[in-house]
Amino acid sequence: MIFESSPVETISFEGHSFYVKRDDLLHLDFSGNKARKFYYFLQNNFSDIKKVVSYGSAQSNAMYSLSVLAKMKGWEFEYYVDHLAKYLKENPHGNYAGALKNNTVFKVSSEQLAVSSEENVLFVEEGGRQKEAEYGIKLLAQEIMDWQKENDIQELNIFLPSGTGTTALFLQKNITLLTAHCSLLTNVYTCPCVGDIEYLKKQFLELEADEKYHPVILTLEKKHHFAKLYKENYKIWLKLQQQTGVEFDLLYDPLGWRVMLAHTELFDKPVMYIHQGGILGNKSMLPRYERKYKNIEGSGDL
Ligand SMILES: *Cc1c(COP(=O)(O)O)cnc(C)c1O
Repeated sequence: MIFESSPVETISFEGHSFYVKRDDLLHLDFSGNKARKFYYFLQNNFSDIKKVVSYGSAQSNAMYSLSVLAKMKGWEFEYYVDHLAKYLKENPHGNYAGALKNNTVFKVSSEQLAVSSEENVLFVEEGGRQKEAEYGIKLLAQEIMDWQKENDIQELNIFLPSGTGTTALFLQKNITLLTAHCSLLTNVYTCPCVGDIEYLKKQFLELEADEKYHPVILTLEKKHHFAKLYKENYKIWLKLQQQTGVEFDLLYDPLGWRVMLAHTELFDKPVMYIHQGGILGNKSMLPRYERKYKNIEGSGDL
């Protein structure tokens, strides 16, 4: 094992008590749920592989984590974006700057990248949405169950926000399998951050046909667009920082916390929130929020 299991902390927020699984602390560079998703590639030997190829946005957390993985493994890393903003190119920051530092080769192409069958090349889907992700997420499920047993927490509601839904799906699946023969009652809840409920449901079905392994999907009533600068998201992020001292990510976590707080039925049991990392991305999101909402201190009403 390359990682120690990540710590669980108790925090209190808006009058409720939560356990937080600090996957953001797994590793200095290679952290969060991308470390879980790419753990299979880190742990196993791929002596034929010389290069990793992937695609997505120029500020993606998955891209940065892959650049760290490639560096650890001594692989080249080629990354396709459909466009690269002039400003970012001239002023690299956030995940893009981090990936450049790890010698990522950026290619701009408007064509959809087909799965490569080239020899010596490892092809990774956008956001790491693939079967191999289950290997590392199963370990996360095991860590949570061991922790429940140690602390005698029979029932637990777990919440984590979804992008592709890969982490939430494989977490629920492996918890269901691992708890099949014991008395623990553990359920996974999530919310779609990138698309809507139908999109997330489709993602789940592509990875696992059997719906008994799917997490429960919760949402807010209002429609939400990914990476848009919502005042409510900024406010809750500031509040989290003030009340808990923990820095969460600005893309997924604000919506995750808002959805969770809107579903008070979850609080009938102890609740665990999974901190999936992504803090490096805040370096590009935070200045945008600060410019847009200069006068917010996070102490007003949500
Ligand atoms: C990638 C990422 C997610 C989404 O994970 P999925 O497995 O794609 O659902 C959530 N939070 C953070 C911080 C991430 O980096």
